[in-house]
Amino acid sequence: MGNNPHPTMLAAVCDGPGEPLHLRRMPRPRPGPGQLLVKMESCGICHSDLHIRNGDEDLPDGLYPLILGHEGIGRVAEIGPGTDTGLKKGVRVGLPWLYGTCGACGPCHTDHESFCTDQQVRGIHHYGAFAEYALMNAQFAFEIPEEIHPIAGAPLLCAGLTAWSALKKTKIGPGSRVLIVGAGGLGQYAILIAKSYGAAVTVIDRDDGKLEEARSLGADAVVPAGPDAGAAVKEKGGADIVLNFAPTRAVWPTIEAAVNPMSEIVAVALVYEPVDLSMMWLIDGGHRLFGSSVGTRRETREFLAFAAKNPLPVTVEPVPLSVVNKALDRLQDGAVNGRLCIDFSLDCKGVA
Ligand SMILES: [Zn+2]
Ligand SMILES: [Zn+2]
Repeated sequence: MGNNPHPTMLAAVCDGPGEPLHLRRMPRPRPGPGQLLVKMESCGICHSDLHIRNGDEDLPDGLYPLILGHEGIGRVAEIGPGTDTGLKKGVRVGLPWLYGTCGACGPCHTDHESFCTDQQVRGIHHYGAFAEYALMNAQFAFEIPEEIHPIAGAPLLCAGLTAWSALKKTKIGPGSRVLIVGAGGLGQYAILIAKSYGAAVTVIDRDDGKLEEARSLGADAVVPAGPDAGAAVKEKGGADIVLNFAPTRAVWPTIEAAVNPMSEIVAVALVYEPVDLSMMWLIDGGHRLFGSSVGTRRETREFLAFAAKNPLPVTVEPVPLSVVNKALDRLQDGAVNGRLCIDFSLDCKGVA
């Protein structure tokens, strides 16, 4: 902190629903008891950030202004007074979607804290990592293995973890027929993780470039989205497991047509409108349909250990903090291959 009594930081601030992010200099937060202050090195840019910026999430006005960003990696800069943590200053840590949970409910007691109804989320209830510094809850802090590069590794904390946790909830194993709907960042991680289990992977997307990328990452078959996509998947052997990463209700008839009996269907993409689910189809086929949301602390540690040993070659494009709003526009336009990630070592001068 030096001699400066009021240190500041640059942050990308969202002042209200539908408002673009503005870069602003503001006071650097001080860690209270139980908190760590982290100097950010990187932060991935996620579709959830876009939904919040655009006002798709119905958040109370009182929550604004917000600092988004929940795929952060940085180093511990300060430890709050009396904070019990095994992490020392300078250690590299990850800042994911979950800032903290109640610790007392059923899901919290059974290692399923990502379904705690009292969860505190980074970017909504607490300032996120689109800023030079961010606070974290020491109880939710974990070290990032040194093998993981901060830029390539940041998207592991939401996109990668979400794909990992969704597959962990299924009976995936060697020879499982897995259908991945939507081959953006999450879908790309899912291809690589599913292949590591020895599964046969089919990918559906409406974008030819994304299908090509899916093939280069190891997908065994690719099918363009459309009214015949489900039947085309069925002809290739059907799907035992489906992960939906496409944020549209239009995929539901495709999924219905693609699955084998007793399939497992995991809803991951944020589809705000209801789908036409046939109870008769569900009963006759013995299908299991369930949701998955990011991942727990245990899953995060397991996944990071896996990623340290098995690098996941998803394209990650570094961008400076100063262009984060334009980066969100690109994400909105679908003009991103893989993931975008803020690199805090890139120049931000002249913008503040
Ligand atoms: Zn996310
Ligand atoms: Zn809880």
